[in-house]
Amino acid sequence: MMDILIDQEKCIGCGECIKVCPKGPRIYWLIEKKGRKVAEVGDKSFCIGCANCMAMCRPGAIRLVRK
Ligand code: SF4
Ligand code: SF4
Repeated sequence: MMDILIDQEKCIGCGECIKVCPKGPRIYWLIEKKGRKVAEVGDKSFCIGCANCMAMCRPGAIRLVRK
């Protein structure tokens, strides 16, 4: 199983992670935090470890850790 860590200070709320993840909205969604849109991790158990999200996140806000 993967641990999915988002650095919400780096996240620009582009939603690319949701688009490129095969399990998209089950794992990622956008929330409003301190007046900014940022991604939040939902149910990590759906993750298949493909790393699409990390590859496509322009600001490098996503880190995947195998556990
Ligand atoms: S792809 Fe990266 S910057 Fe864009 S919403 Fe997802 S975590 Fe945030
Ligand atoms: S590694 Fe793949 S399945 Fe897991 S959250 Fe990222 S895009 Fe989705």
